[in-house]
Amino acid sequence: MTARIGFIGVGTMGLPMAINLARKGFAVTAFDANPDAVKAAAAAGMTAAASAAEAVATADLVITMLPSSPHVESVYTGDGGVLAAARRGTLCVDMSTIDPAVSQRVAKAAAERGVRFMDAPVSGGTPRATDGTLAIMVGGAAGDFEEARPALSAMGANVIHVGPVGSGEVVKLCNNLIAGVCGVAVSEAFRIAEGFGMDPTVVTDVISKSSGNTFLMGFMHPVPGLMPSAASSNDYKPGFMTDLMCKDLGLAVDAARNLRVPLFVTPAAQQVYRLASSHGLGRRDFTSVYSFLKPSSGQAPV
Ligand code: NAD
Repeated sequence: MTARIGFIGVGTMGLPMAINLARKGFAVTAFDANPDAVKAAAAAGMTAAASAAEAVATADLVITMLPSSPHVESVYTGDGGVLAAARRGTLCVDMSTIDPAVSQRVAKAAAERGVRFMDAPVSGGTPRATDGTLAIMVGGAAGDFEEARPALSAMGANVIHVGPVGSGEVVKLCNNLIAGVCGVAVSEAFRIAEGFGMDPTVVTDVISKSSGNTFLMGFMHPVPGLMPSAASSNDYKPGFMTDLMCKDLGLAVDAARNLRVPLFVTPAAQQVYRLASSHGLGRRDFTSVYSFLKPSSGQAPV
């Protein structure tokens, strides 16, 4: 079993994931650009590091959980970054959601320094990160996957090897395309039901047994008060921030453009989240898009 883990990025998702590793016997050294996040990791029993380099210097396995592509690229390849500090042969697993091409570029830079790299983005949000039941989609060499499996299994219930480096991110951006579109679709549907004076509990119950049922409605209902554990019932505290959903839909839009795949619904959903963000909801949970999609109060003819 890999004993020493350098964990970089102990934010909303990284902290509960690292806590599960520590609970299951891994020695975790944590670093984050935000000193409060490092303090939270130390309070949970991890060793605090003062830099990314310090976190990875003695690690057998490096895990990163960062916001987006530029963060990952700079944490790995920048001055004082992971690739400069890690010992040759170290296995690095980036669990952030980023552009698959960036994963491949970082993997190439890692290989040039004798370091191994895999992408392993996750799905399930903070509830599953806390329970250690995330879905983890892994892109990388089969041998590296087997080596990382015990640590990944400490954080996830479904750990799936999906192909070479970058392919975990491909599956993840396809998944979030669907989840992001559903967030807008479910919000729009419930605003209509509400306009007709329907009880949202009844509507939820019927749709959950019908063709409109989605994971999003079942576990992250955007209407406040229906599901105590959902972000919507907790003032839309993230969860998964609106700005991160904008980023993920942008990854899908970029990929489709490069592949010349026509895309209609995803760019529209991305603009709804973008607008919600510009109205102050960027750092709230993405399901706050429901609170943004209010009916207009004007008297204009319909
Ligand atoms: P977050 O912003 O809460 O956490 C990211 C952490 O990285 C922060 O603590 C930040 O300080 C740290 N960081 C940023 N730059 C850094 C640097 N240069 N060096 C060290 N630390 C740095 O975001 P999150 O919600 O935890 O999401 C992390 C990743 O997981 C994102 O790619 C996101 O898309 C993905 N994701 C999130 C969820 C979710 O529900 N929140 C679900 C699935 C996937």
